[in-house]
Formats: sequence, C-alpha cells, structure tokens
Amino acid sequence: MEQENGMASERREMVSQLMHYGIVNSRVLGAFLTVERHRFVDGGSRMFAYSDSALPIGYGQTISQPYTVAYMMELLVDRCPAGKVLEIGTGSGYQAAILNTLGYRVFTIERVAGLYELAASRFKKMGIPVQSRLGDGTLGWPEEAPFDAIIVTAAAPSEPRTLMEQLADGGVLILPLGDIASQQMTVIRRKGERFEHERFDHFAFVPLIGREGWRDPDEAS
Ligand code: SAH
Repeated sequence: MEQENGMASERREMVSQLMHYGIVNSRVLGAFLTVERHRFVDGGSRMFAYSDSALPIGYGQTISQPYTVAYMMELLVDRCPAGKVLEIGTGSGYQAAILNTLGYRVFTIERVAGLYELAASRFKKMGIPVQSRLGDGTLGWPEEAPFDAIIVTAAAPSEPRTLMEQLADGGVLILPLGDIASQQMTVIRRKGERFEHERFDHFAFVPLIGREGWRDPDEAS
C-alpha cells in the first residue's frame, strides 16, 4: 500500500519547515524524517498529517503540532542524550515513537482507555518497543522509576510532586506549566533533593487531568 511506506517527500517538507522555525538538532530532525506521522492519525486526517498543526485524535484530544514535539525533543536531547524516559499523555503514540527512534527506552501512560488501546495496537503492529499503560500519569510509574527524563505532553497547573520524586538524580522533567489557555515550557532538573528550573516559550496544550493535575470534569464532586 502506497501510504504505508510513502509520504517521504511530505516528511521532508515538514522537516524543512521545522528547520525554518528554528529546530537545529540533527538527531531530532532525523527522527522526524523517519517516523511516519500519517500512521498515527485516522483516515480522515491523513492528508493533513504533515502540515505543521495539531490534529484531532478523538475523545476531545489532539496529536501535538510537529513543531511543539520537536521543541520538546530538542530540550530533551540536549540535557539527557540517552536513558529511560517516561511520557505522560500517549495520545496517538506519535511522540512515543519519536522518543523510541531517538534511542530512548520509552514508557508512556494515557488516561483515556480508547486512546491507550489504539496507541498500544499501533505500537504492536509497527513493532515499536514502547511500554504503555492506562492510568493517571500524574502519579507516574513507580515500578519503573527512577527515570532519566519525564515528558508531560498535556498542560499542568503546577509541578506534579510525584513525578519530580520519580526522577533520577540529574534527571529532567519537561512540561508545559500554566493555566488552561497558555503554558510556559519548563525544564526542571533534579540535583539531589534540589530542583532547578529553566523556562522557555509559551504553548497551548490540552489539560493534564488527574490527581496532581487539573480536576476531572466528569468526576462527581
Ligand atoms: N504525545 C501525544 C499528544 C497527546 S495530547 C501524541 O504524540 O499524540 C495529551 C494527551 O494526554 C491526551 O491524549 C490526554 O488524554 C492525555 N492525558 C491528560 N491527562 C493525563 C493524565 N493524567 N495521565 C495520562 N494521560 C493524560
């Protein structure tokens, strides 16, 4: 099937756009050339798979814009070139696939059952060795901690304490921090029992919903 291996020229086009926006890391750009984003969106959105935009993936959620994913990956590879990474918010599975292509050992958590199942079946079908689980990612993955890096791909109102505690010494937590409308990309590095913060550009993510995130709107009070 043409689409299964195709769309290489669309991917090249997307990568030149990422470069135009200021992404310079060749390892990151290489991963974006490799991972077939069109296989992480459903049929109706495939023709838009390589436009630099977020796309609906069902359940009110979106696959992040390529630029946003690339921006986070640059922050990551510069500070943590290898190791064990936990992603919070599997969504389509695309960002987990990028992390895997970058050579990390990847664990990912999703709270929406339908998305978790779809991503898990994609990983299996595409032979991507990512470990995924269904649950509240704000509580981390204690059995697999500590992590060299934790990436939160949804908007957090504050730093989830539990995730900070699951960082290895020297490890980094990368997350968009702010209110529902706008968040500042933040890198928190663990140094023993101290945590150092670096702040970057603003983005708009879907909310991180959980015990140490925003409250679940469907939960009875
Ligand atoms: N990284 C994803 C982007 C997903 S959008 C991709 O590449 O497609 C953010 C995702 O975070 C959504 O799927 C949402 O359901 C999920 N999410 C929100 N709060 C969560 C939580 N507490 N734990 C796990 N996943 C969460």
